[in-house]
Amino acid sequence: MKRKRVLVTGGAGFIGSHLCEKLLEQGNDVVCMDNLFTGQKDNIRHLMDNPYFEFIRQDILEDIYVECDQIYNLACPASPIHYQYDPIKTGKTSVVGALHTLGLAKRCHARILQASTSEVYGDPEVHPQPESYRGSVNPNGIRSCYDEGKRMAETLFFDYHRQHGVDIKVIRIFNTYGPRMRSDDGRVVSNFIVQALRGQDITIYGDGKQTRSFCYVDDLVDGMIRMMNSRDDFTGPVNLGNPGEFTMLQLAEMIIYMTNSKSKIVYLPLPQDDPTQRKPIIDLAKKELSWEPSIPLEEGLVKTILYFRETMEKDNAINFY
Ligand code: NAD
Ligand code: UDP
Repeated sequence: MKRKRVLVTGGAGFIGSHLCEKLLEQGNDVVCMDNLFTGQKDNIRHLMDNPYFEFIRQDILEDIYVECDQIYNLACPASPIHYQYDPIKTGKTSVVGALHTLGLAKRCHARILQASTSEVYGDPEVHPQPESYRGSVNPNGIRSCYDEGKRMAETLFFDYHRQHGVDIKVIRIFNTYGPRMRSDDGRVVSNFIVQALRGQDITIYGDGKQTRSFCYVDDLVDGMIRMMNSRDDFTGPVNLGNPGEFTMLQLAEMIIYMTNSKSKIVYLPLPQDDPTQRKPIIDLAKKELSWEPSIPLEEGLVKTILYFRETMEKDNAINFY
């Protein structure tokens, strides 16, 4: 089989670095493009010596000149604190980033996969969420730069497909967690684990009854690659997520128990437009990709807690010397 050249935008981020690793393992030639806004060189340091891996430090808003057979478009900050840091840039990254990568796919005749999100469903009135649900998104709130940016990116993907015949794949990723999340990332799994390991208060926003469905990163990456290599006429959008649904209070209690922590739970105000519930219907992924997650939350949390424990020990050792 011919070695494929695969471009991964946002490849130095949490999900992107796991994807690059897997694609290399499968015998591909991987080009990782990232501006390192939320990504880190440490995430890909172990890949740097591989002759089939190349890192390009570039913003996706600049023109892209790369020859490739496949493109995974992941470039976009994903955690609320990071995407709200410069919301105008977040919107541009989704929209102009989609235009640039789609233009590249058109020129190279490459197949292109868009990392869309469950956030296109907003604060959903339909529960659990099938792909056919059109969502309930506030167009002008603090989450809109991300949600609407991703919705517009989906629109552009389907328009390039209809108008120019570009070979597209669209996945809607639900909350994903695992090693290489940043400790200062602000997302709930990393926050709770870091707080529990440091013995700090566990910060629940709102009453903790809001739900999320958490997918371990290895399961997600497997689904992404299956989608990229799925039959020619299947564009998606397809939900990729773990249908197990948990309240934030349940998650906090699990993490406190699993880390044997003395941390107390404190309640802070719920941010604006925070979705009250989220759970994917994954029948389409099962049917088209023969995919479903295999790692339950507890098992994934064990691996993630171990990662944060080791990272914190390393950081402490560095600070000590
Ligand atoms: P992340 O923040 O770790 O990764 C995003 C990467 O994109 C980072 O490496 C960042 O430096 C890079 N980036 C951001 N703006 C860029 C720009 N303008 N030019 C070039 N690179 C840029 O987040 P993640 O969790 O790994 O998410 C990856 C993708 O998956 C994102 O598109 C996100 O929207 C999507 N997604 C993630 C989740 C999740 O739960 N993690 C859920 C739904 C969708
Ligand atoms: N959350 C929380 N405490 C935290 C961080 C997040 O209670 O320290 C809540 C947040 O309000 C949301 C849920 O956890 O209801 C998931 O938040 P995250 O930022 O991880 O993902 P998203 O809201 O984008 O799904």
